[in-house]
Order: sequence, then C-alpha cells, then structure tokens
Amino acid sequence: MKKCTKCGEWKDESEFSLRYSVTSKPSLRNECKSCLSSQERNRVNNNREAYNQRRREKYQNSHEHYAKQQRERRSKRLENEPGYKEKLNEQKRKQRAIYRSDELRIRTAKARFYLRRMLPEGMEPSPELVKVKTSQLMLLHEISQTKEEQG
Ligand SMILES: [Zn+2]
Repeated sequence: MKKCTKCGEWKDESEFSLRYSVTSKPSLRNECKSCLSSQERNRVNNNREAYNQRRREKYQNSHEHYAKQQRERRSKRLENEPGYKEKLNEQKRKQRAIYRSDELRIRTAKARFYLRRMLPEGMEPSPELVKVKTSQLMLLHEISQTKEEQG
C-alpha cells in the first residue's frame, strides 16, 4: 500500500504509475493514477484554446500536405493523360452544381423561417414570397462570397 500525496488516500501499488528515470530504477509516482488523470484533464481544460489551436494547426498542415500532393498528381496527369482536362472540368462543373443546389436548399429553408416569423402564427408564406426571399438571400450570399474572394 502507498499513500497518494494528492488525495491522501492509501491505495494498492497497482493504482500508481511508474516513473522512469535514466539514472535510477523505475519508481512509483507519488500521485495515484486517478489523481494524475484528473490533473491531465484539468491541464487540457485550462489550456483549451492552446490545445485547439495545436489541433487546428496539425489539421491545417496535413491538409496542405495532401492538397499539394493532389495538385502535383493532377498536373502530372494533365501533362500525360489525353482527355484528363475535360474530365476534370466536368468533375468541377458537377461539384459546383451540387454546391449550388445545397446553397439554394439552405437558403430556401432560411427564407421560409424568416417569413414565418413575420407572419401571424400558423400562417404559411406563399411560394412566391419564399422564392423572392430566397433569391434575396442568394444574392446577399453571392455578394459576401465575392467580397471574401477579393479579400
Ligand atoms: Zn490520489
């Protein structure tokens, strides 16, 4: 049995992790495993922002790495594979169409939501009204996208 210096409880030796040292034999740590793990949890929670930042950076770096690989593969194929350029353009066109339809779907739902709030309870906005509001939202979205692209 060993007394944990953190919680003060007497616990079995198996409840303590080993501390490894270069100069001497491994010895049991002074804090029990459960105290250590709650310490670790606190450490992560207290440094949440730094922790998230590291994760973001890690993701960003690997993302950039794969994007670069893909660009390289693509340019090689563009040089060597006849018809690949057309295939790529077709893929891009499809992707854009999917993106657009998603954007439209999201904004139609938003338009309906806005309009419902303006109407007396239980009243549904007319399809024409939803259409007008949706195209307004799409326009605003496109403007903000253009602004973003221009920095
Ligand atoms: Zn403890």
